[in-house]
Amino acid sequence: MTQVGKLILVTVDSYNIELIPATTWGKSLAHLARQKGSGFRSIWDKIRERELGRADRKCEICKTSASSLICHEKWQFDDAQSVQRLIGYEVTCRECSNILHLGRASEDKVLWEKAKVHFAKVTGMEENVLDDVLDQAMEEWTQRSKHNWSIDISHEPLAFGFEKKLNNLQPSSQQERKWQGIS
Ligand SMILES: [Zn+2]
Repeated sequence: MTQVGKLILVTVDSYNIELIPATTWGKSLAHLARQKGSGFRSIWDKIRERELGRADRKCEICKTSASSLICHEKWQFDDAQSVQRLIGYEVTCRECSNILHLGRASEDKVLWEKAKVHFAKVTGMEENVLDDVLDQAMEEWTQRSKHNWSIDISHEPLAFGFEKKLNNLQPSSQQERKWQGIS
C-alpha cells in the first residue's frame, strides 16, 4: 500500500486496485451508457473505440490480444474532499479485469481461483499474495463505503454536460446488496 498525499492506492506490480465504494456503485460512464434514454451510448462507444485504439487492442496489463477487451475507468479517490475523480482508462482482458475488481471476483470461488492463477502468471508472485491484497483493499473499501462521494468526470471532454446525470444515478441495488454481504 502506497500513500500519495491523501490518496491511498493498493498497487501490486501492474495492478492498481481501486474498489468502488458501495455508495457510488454503478456511477460510471459505462453504466450511464447502459441507461435507456441517457443519450450517452454513442459517446461511450466513441470513448471505448478511442481507448482500444490507443492500447493497440491489447490488454494494457498482461499484453494479450483478447477478443473481448474491457475499457476500465480509472478513478482516484480524494478522501479529504470525498471526490471520486476520473483520471483515465485502462484497457484490460477479462482475467485482468477480475483482478482489478477483486472484491467482486472473490465472491465466486471458481472466478477467484482463476484470478489468482492469472495474477501469479502475470506478476511472478505467489497466488496467495492476492488474498492479502483483497484484505487490504476491503479494509479501504469499507471506510470509503461509509459516506457519499461526488463524481468528477471533467477529465473526459466527450462527457461534458453529463456530470449531473451521472451523479444522480442511484447506486445499483443488486450490487449494493451483494457487496454489503461481504463488508
Ligand atoms: Zn490482461
